[in-house]
Amino acid sequence: MRLNIPLTGAPEVDAVREVIESGYLTQGAKTAAFEDAVRGYTAARHAAAVSSATTGLHLALVALGVQPGDEVVIPGFSFPATANAVIQQGATPVFVDIDEATFNLDPALLDAAVTDRTRAIMPVHAFGLCADMDAINAVAARHDLPVLEDAACALGGTYGGRHAGTLGTAGVYSFHPRKIITTAEGGMITTDDDELAKRIAVLRAHGAVRGELYMEFVEAGFNYRLSDVHAAIGLAQMTRIDDIVSGRRRAASELTSRVSGIEGVQVPTEPAGTAHTFQSYVVLLDDRIDRDEVIRRMRTRDIETTLGTYGMHLQPYFRERFGIPDEALPHTTRAHHQALTLPLYPQLTEDDMDAIADALRLSIEESTTR
Ligand SMILES: *Cc1c(COP(=O)(O)O)cnc(C)c1O
Repeated sequence: MRLNIPLTGAPEVDAVREVIESGYLTQGAKTAAFEDAVRGYTAARHAAAVSSATTGLHLALVALGVQPGDEVVIPGFSFPATANAVIQQGATPVFVDIDEATFNLDPALLDAAVTDRTRAIMPVHAFGLCADMDAINAVAARHDLPVLEDAACALGGTYGGRHAGTLGTAGVYSFHPRKIITTAEGGMITTDDDELAKRIAVLRAHGAVRGELYMEFVEAGFNYRLSDVHAAIGLAQMTRIDDIVSGRRRAASELTSRVSGIEGVQVPTEPAGTAHTFQSYVVLLDDRIDRDEVIRRMRTRDIETTLGTYGMHLQPYFRERFGIPDEALPHTTRAHHQALTLPLYPQLTEDDMDAIADALRLSIEESTTR
């Protein structure tokens, strides 16, 4: 059993064939239609498709004016692309510890992480659960800082009835096959800020502005476009998004009812006023349980599991460059070692979920020190 299987089929195949047969392959009408679909779904004012969430985060940071030497505050627990985007701009990621119940940035620690070099705050919606955006936006407003949401896993997630990715200054979704919808590779930046949207549009395509007959280059921009081949897949995926999100949420609640009774397992929470996408279904294991041994035992039972995500300060590049001690980020460190991702996707059957729960119970028994 795999961790995730994207929901794709004939509509996606037909959409790709149509683009290829049209002879117009890169960013064009399909990309515009895909952006419209995401804008309509999320109620964002602007949406710009990009080649990945990583390039989208980088592009958004540049457009927000983050410069070499600046600091960007991010949670310590995330896929390292979150920090890499900051580093690619020559800026320094400042890691803030998380709340172990939600795996999200602990807003009580945010204010102390802001310095006179901070240029942006970049919360992550861990596994599709929105971070505590009211508290984060309040700190950002006090320091007059923009908030860039890493909403890579959170398309379809909500907070106070509003969509993830529309809660700060700008947001970025990922369309990698492990995420909510897929374009194989791809991402999208959303914002309500007209000026920011204009900068993003120019920087996305070589810093060029179209003149009457040819382009004029007004910035040293990037090529972070999404092709129409990929956008066509995304457009087909958007017709399924309600089924995908509700299917993931239903599967998550059924899985929770099966694993919540297993000793030493903390199941995912959904704070009042939020809707989780369950891009990943992540449990936290007691310290007496050897998480890596659980992953190995689950593998022998033919069930793919993995760590939750990364304590970035524990990865070789970040360890060597920043040398952050484990005690500085205790909850991030613990989540890095004790969080476990279980398979979750709408196509899971009742039998699959029984098998996951049974295998987990046995694997934990075999991996616990008494
Ligand atoms: C997957 C992910 C990314 C990177 O997305 P890509 O589209 O693969 O570049 C960034 N941040 C988080 C939190 C992610 O989960």
